[in-house]
Amino acid sequence: MGKFAKPRVVVSKCLGFAPCRYNGEIVSDEVVSRLAEDVAFLPVCPEMEIGLGCPRDPIRIVVSGGERRLVQPATGRDLSGAMREFAKRFLDSVGEVDGFLLKARSPSCGISDVKVYDEPEGEAFRREGRGFFAEAVLERFAHLQIEDEERLRDDAACEGFLARVLAAAASRRSSCRR
Ligand code: SF4
Repeated sequence: MGKFAKPRVVVSKCLGFAPCRYNGEIVSDEVVSRLAEDVAFLPVCPEMEIGLGCPRDPIRIVVSGGERRLVQPATGRDLSGAMREFAKRFLDSVGEVDGFLLKARSPSCGISDVKVYDEPEGEAFRREGRGFFAEAVLERFAHLQIEDEERLRDDAACEGFLARVLAAAASRRSSCRR
């Protein structure tokens, strides 16, 4: 496949691109390796981009009084505004994109089943939320493929994802030529 034919896919940077997880680790992911030949990845780590550093104290989503907040219990920081502003700025400037591959269950990047707590320090949680960055992606790019690496470990799902981002890139190029 020629260089310019590759679909552009935004990917969570910890999925094999940099050791940027909260604990300083990188995730060696077979899905990314499998797609790398056919996809132009655009890696981003939203938590690093808002200046949290690495390693860092973990963050979590807390819902209280009907309000969703992204907080860092160890420091008492509320990062909701910073993350929403970064997501808007990034998605405004990312340019043409054909899909997203985001880290499963992260409070920033997770597209589903993210832990949601009732309080910053408590242990009780439900798995029902979306990460703050993922939420902005899902609101703005619902027409594109948005997946996490766990879903794509299924061969058919991975092949389907690749087929659809290839189709999105082809459609984008053909509309550019009109
Ligand atoms: S899940 Fe997202 S925010 Fe967390 S380390 Fe990976 S890229 Fe960064």
